[in-house]
Amino acid sequence: MSGPRRARILATLGPASSSPERIRALAQAGADVFRLNFSHGSHEDHAARHRAIRELEQALGRPIGILMDLQGPKLRIGRIDGGKTTLQAGQPFRLDLNPEQGGPDRANLPHPEIFAALETGTDLLLDDGKLRLRVERHGPDFAETTVLVGGPLSDRKGVNVPGVILPISPLTPKDRDDLAFGLSLGVDWVALSFVQRPEDIAEARALIGDQAWIMAKLEKPAAIEHLDAIIEQADGLMVARGDLGVELPAQRVPILQQRIVRHARAAGKPVVVATQMLESMTSAPVPTRAEASDVATAIYSGADAVMLSAESASGQYPVEAVTIMEHIIHEVEQDPSWRAGLDASHSPARPNTPDAICRALRQVAELLAPAATVAYTTSGFSALRASRERPSTPILALTPAVGTARRLALAWGVHPMHFPEQLAEPSEMIARATAAVRQSGLAAAKDTIIVIAGLPFGHSGSTNLLHIAQVPDA
Ligand code: PGA
Ligand code: MN
Repeated sequence: MSGPRRARILATLGPASSSPERIRALAQAGADVFRLNFSHGSHEDHAARHRAIRELEQALGRPIGILMDLQGPKLRIGRIDGGKTTLQAGQPFRLDLNPEQGGPDRANLPHPEIFAALETGTDLLLDDGKLRLRVERHGPDFAETTVLVGGPLSDRKGVNVPGVILPISPLTPKDRDDLAFGLSLGVDWVALSFVQRPEDIAEARALIGDQAWIMAKLEKPAAIEHLDAIIEQADGLMVARGDLGVELPAQRVPILQQRIVRHARAAGKPVVVATQMLESMTSAPVPTRAEASDVATAIYSGADAVMLSAESASGQYPVEAVTIMEHIIHEVEQDPSWRAGLDASHSPARPNTPDAICRALRQVAELLAPAATVAYTTSGFSALRASRERPSTPILALTPAVGTARRLALAWGVHPMHFPEQLAEPSEMIARATAAVRQSGLAAAKDTIIVIAGLPFGHSGSTNLLHIAQVPDA
């Protein structure tokens, strides 16, 4: 089957993708949502990227989502003299609270809570687990270690302490400051890093309210233990394979990826597969075969979106990376076994009216192969329930709320469209829907479309109507 792409592309912005021209090229290559990574860059950098995206949105005439990613309690070393050094296996290496720049035999680790929680024999992992240090001696403000696995180490690289539970809030003071700033810009999604418990999401929700949707990044073993409760609390999920694969052995990552995608799909919460998808494209214009296959696997499993990190933020081929991702998704979505796999992995609807309508939508779509479905949605809920069904038609989500349109840019198969006026009369509904599908290019004259809506208008979760219509000639 052909037609518009269903799975979405989330591209991280960074030094390699900050100019308005570059952001535009990424969007035109297929990026649907942009990630502002608050682990890097200044508020001014993020504000400029945010502004460029909003201007681009006007120029392209389609909603673009913006996800702010909070650093969370990510532990990092401080600065290294000259920006970079090399650690040799077998050599001693000291970590301490001294803020001076580090070198080949020591570095600043500005986290007293780590020193307090360490034990002799604990392993510390640096730079996504590439380097391994074993603690020999430690005090309240230092740790003396032996380098077990050496290699290059540069400024501000991450530190993981698997197996040690650190008593830290999911929102650091920096996160709270960044969050207030991001919300003042008007981001659509907020991603929370290192979520461990459902309460972590509630803590963030108390600050965010309905200003943005919350994405829980699954990258801690503890989060996997509370997976369903976290999915229940969150608006979306990210399989954050970078830190997940440091905290747990690499061979656990594919198993957990499949489980998280399956559970998130069942709940109807958008799920993103992230990190190292096209990693080699940071320095090469083409991916490895294994990377192409990795992206394809995420698409076959029905994930809502796939993400680029360094590939688009700091790599040499950001636009090529989005383009390749787009091509891989397009290929997979032509494969009859992709559709068969989605159907086979479909999970039952809930016994309520909106889900009954959405299930009917899926069946009508399969029987009549209409060009598109139009979903009237205010909060976005109805569009997500329709997307949950993974129907064979694209879903044009018509919403009077521009924020809803932008949030929905991350949802599988959903083409959000903002229409400013609220409909007053049900009689306007079909005419408006047929005009919208023509405008979007999803359907042409004489095509059949499905319309789902809730009457009376304007109440979230009230979908109670399915109408089959034909697009008129003029
Ligand atoms: P990060 O999150 O890029 O912010 O670390 C994603 C991951 O850990 O995979
Ligand atoms: Mn992470």
